[in-house]
Amino acid sequence: MDQSTDTTTFADLALRPELVEALSSLGYEEPTPIQRESIPPLIAGQDLLGQAATGTGKTAAFALPMLEHLEGENRSKNPTGLILVPTRELAMQVSEAVHKYGRALGARVLPIYGGQPIGRQLQALSRGVDVVVATPGRAVDHIKRGTIPLKNIAMVVLDEADEMLDMGFAEDLDAILGALPAERQTVLFSATMPKRIESLARRHLSNPTTIRIEAPIVAKGDAPKVRQLAFMVPRSHKPAALGRILDVESPAAAIVFCRTRVEVDQLTETLNGRGYRAEALHGGMNQEGRDRVMARVRSGNADLLIATDVAARGLDIDLLTHVVNYDVPSAPESYVHRIGRVGRAGREGVAITLAEPREHRLLENIQRVTGDKIAIEKVPTISDLRNRRMELTLGTLRETLLDDDLDRYRTIVESLTDEFDLFDVALAAVKLTHEATTGAEDDVEIPEVEVRRKNDRKNDHGDRGDRGDRGDRGDRDKKGKKGKDRSIGVDSTRLYFPIGRSAQVRPGDLVGAITGEAGLAGKQIGSIEIADKFSLVEVPEKSADDIIRAMKKTTIKGRKVVPRRERFQRFER
Ligand code: AMP
Repeated sequence: MDQSTDTTTFADLALRPELVEALSSLGYEEPTPIQRESIPPLIAGQDLLGQAATGTGKTAAFALPMLEHLEGENRSKNPTGLILVPTRELAMQVSEAVHKYGRALGARVLPIYGGQPIGRQLQALSRGVDVVVATPGRAVDHIKRGTIPLKNIAMVVLDEADEMLDMGFAEDLDAILGALPAERQTVLFSATMPKRIESLARRHLSNPTTIRIEAPIVAKGDAPKVRQLAFMVPRSHKPAALGRILDVESPAAAIVFCRTRVEVDQLTETLNGRGYRAEALHGGMNQEGRDRVMARVRSGNADLLIATDVAARGLDIDLLTHVVNYDVPSAPESYVHRIGRVGRAGREGVAITLAEPREHRLLENIQRVTGDKIAIEKVPTISDLRNRRMELTLGTLRETLLDDDLDRYRTIVESLTDEFDLFDVALAAVKLTHEATTGAEDDVEIPEVEVRRKNDRKNDHGDRGDRGDRGDRGDRDKKGKKGKDRSIGVDSTRLYFPIGRSAQVRPGDLVGAITGEAGLAGKQIGSIEIADKFSLVEVPEKSADDIIRAMKKTTIKGRKVVPRRERFQRFER
């Protein structure tokens, strides 16, 4: 890899000071490869054809040059920038990003998409807007009504152009581009470059600079041999998911990479709050601070180092067993650098990547470039974790029974057995051990996410339109499933069904069997947790025995599945 390009800073890209300041306050330490390559030609006014997936930092790659050219205070009410995106979600996300980058410049950004009252969009347009971020369908509506003044548009961006074509927006794009001033800059970003995109580019771009960020940078086989795992997790669930994964993996020492300083600080605080010993390391710290952190990590006084790429560059930590990518790295080369920190000298290393559903393509790129397979795993469920904690408690007690001199506690047990049953005394002691060794219970339901592969996309164009919701539709559907928050209250109990995900059981199968056989109404059934080999279903205490009896007469997924009361219930808080 060319090290010289690696050290480019945002200031080197000759961005105006307000933008450099905004990036610094967002905690961005350096431009991503797509930003390094796109920003200079875009500032110079060239058209650009870029191949880059979500997660590479492409939004800033086009938004910063667009904002760079924004005029001073008394600017016209008419927009100078137009960004076309396939979905409402992306329209909101891109507007937010442009707003963040351009805040100090007073940039006025307006997302427009179908489903939102047009009146509000018209009002905002009449007050004055600098950048419009629109889905093609709604943009065409406005153009037909003459409600978006286009005469000042100096830069138009087609973001995720392949998605827009897949969704049937080809004609709309031609109509919009045809209505813009001929003297303008056109930028097209697409994750893939099929012939239709090339032809769109030929029709509307003039002599563009081309950039391809997913070109293989690392020779196949160069990446170290490391167990590579990825977990698909919606952003809001990442801290909880990371906690669970760390609990199950139990790394001796791990480095967790984040994109920004701000993220490093936030995650460090969250993890410390959850009882981990985490230290932050980023470019905003002075040398003394960094040395202190490294000393704590090297001496084993901290087991997690949360860092940005820049701060971790050149660090060599012997004891590292795990590298965690809190986000998918913006380029395969960065992934390879990061995971190269473990699996050295024949030791086993583990690389864990948390990916948001929309980032699956970035993950596929990395696999293609490195030639290594990244196994997509399921985030441990609450039940998996609970079982693991029970195992830990069992192990601790077994060791104590074998090794320790227990005789001095005999008087306590004897005096308690005057009053209580010996078995209950043992249960209370186990409870105390369990709480002391395993800490607080995590009860956040993390939705399972299905990854939509490229080929799935073709099946659902028609109904997506402006309402499309990109790759994370899967988890939205799942949110409807019964989770912890559906608890039915104190007079409930949980039934253990010895059938789980490995038998393809879904909440509906369990609810169906219970309501069908035991005559309960669906709303009487509370939270449902499905682990690999079993499921836990919350039901009213008074119906538990009836349900157990009824289930003896039926099958779930063709198997006889007789539930019993959850064995560990008495330990719960
Ligand atoms: P995008 O590919 O534009 O969707 O960006 C992916 C994520 O990377 C977003 O959360 C951005 O805020 C973040 N990001 C973009 N550029 C940088 C950068 N230079 N340093 C750190 N994070 C960045």
